[in-house]
Amino acid sequence: MSNVGGPDACDIAVVGAGAAGLAAAIAAGDQTNTGHALGITLLESARTIGAKILVSGGGRCNVTHETVTPQDYFGNRRIIKNVLAALPVKDTVAWFESMGVSLKREETGKLFPVTNKSRTVLNALTDRCRKLGVVIRPDHRVADIEHSQDTGFVIRHRHGTVHAKKLILATGGRSLPKSGSDGFGYELARRLGHEVTPTVPALVPLMLDDRMFHKTLSGLSQEVELTTVVAGRTVDQRTGSLLWTHFGISGPVVMDASRFWTLTREQGSMAQVSASFLPGQTQEQVRQWFTAQATDHPRRSLARLLTHLIPERFAEALCRQVACDPQQAIAQVRRADRERLISSLTKFALPIERDRGWNYAEVTAGGVPLEEINYQTMESKLFPGLYLVGEILDCDGRIGGFNFQWAWTTGFLAGGAAAGFRPRGEHHVA
Ligand SMILES: Cc1cc2nc3c(=O)[nH]c(=O)nc-3n(C[C@H](O)[C@H](O)[C@H](O)COP(=O)(O)OP(=O)(O)OC[C@H]3O[C@@H](n4cnc5c(N)ncnc54)[C@H](O)[C@@H]3O)c2cc1C
Repeated sequence: MSNVGGPDACDIAVVGAGAAGLAAAIAAGDQTNTGHALGITLLESARTIGAKILVSGGGRCNVTHETVTPQDYFGNRRIIKNVLAALPVKDTVAWFESMGVSLKREETGKLFPVTNKSRTVLNALTDRCRKLGVVIRPDHRVADIEHSQDTGFVIRHRHGTVHAKKLILATGGRSLPKSGSDGFGYELARRLGHEVTPTVPALVPLMLDDRMFHKTLSGLSQEVELTTVVAGRTVDQRTGSLLWTHFGISGPVVMDASRFWTLTREQGSMAQVSASFLPGQTQEQVRQWFTAQATDHPRRSLARLLTHLIPERFAEALCRQVACDPQQAIAQVRRADRERLISSLTKFALPIERDRGWNYAEVTAGGVPLEEINYQTMESKLFPGLYLVGEILDCDGRIGGFNFQWAWTTGFLAGGAAAGFRPRGEHHVA
């Protein structure tokens, strides 16, 4: 493939210069080293590139995770497995190393740049693009895409038109719309013939009924087991850290579970989310413990007793919530009160009112179905020459670097394929 030349024509246009778009442009540009001279243009709606990368991971960018499996994602896991096989973690680490970014592993298994700065990641990606001759055009929001046999893709943006032989759609989802990912990419995909499954905020904090005690606990985090039940069926159960906030609940376990609540609401029903503040313990075990404590320390206050199990501030708030006096001596606690307390310790129904919305969501659940994509190349099965990558696809990962890994891998596959690269051997693993 040769550069078709001219400022408004290119071989490969990438729409969206987020993680997936940058990875795709680099993967395509890297093919130049094998003798091709490609014209690659990145069209980005925001005035500055990479806002989301910069804020990611609390400003440190959790690039990936030491172990990445299909179970870390939601979507068609058979296809996800095949996609992930194309860029294993060790290759991702080597790819970043080749761009001058060394990664370090933290205790949780998350990988961050050793500099602890997401700017290091963004600069490496944009520098690599520049070295490869990729033309980056910020402030070029794409409003429409057409295709004809003669001219290829005709991409209309804020300042005019670009013609491209191949098109990589990397417009992200709807999370953090002020970064430029406002969901318009779904409309572009639809116009090109793709389905888009309903999109909802995922990895999003949840807001509780104002009458709950969460405000008094703001800033406190504790280990919980969250169970999400829809129409009598448990759809998710996970243990991790919950953070109480002035609006409700956040923290990794809540963020990971949130997609089940938002998806169920989108489908017109409600999910019940309950918390056990004593993960791994049954009601019967807690009951026996209470009985033993009442025998051994009958005059100890309820609040003091509970601090053996849960944080003090939370113990007081929980007692009040279930109308028990935290200062009452254990031996005097009535059976009905004790049962209410045990039940709230092990199965507390969280009164979720709504999610915190797109401005606080880290990712989007839903999008273009993976079944419409060739997983070996990320090329559209409906539209030859069109590739879809990153968050626009119906795949969302849990917290821990998995969403960026999806962006790097899909970008890597599409960029290479659009530039004419055929992977050595199959990476079919199903
Ligand atoms: C606060 C926050 C923290 C996060 N932290 C992490 C983390 O540490 N680790 C992790 O793995 N994931 C993290 N994520 C998720 C991760 O950032 C995303 O999964 C990832 O950025 C998706 O990459 P993408 O390229 O598909 O989409 P995006 O990064 O959203 O990029 C899409 C780009 O397309 C542009 N665009 C959209 N429409 C148009 C248009 N019409 N014309 C031109 N350009 C357009 C947008 O401006 C944007 O730059 C975080 C997300 C948020 C919001």
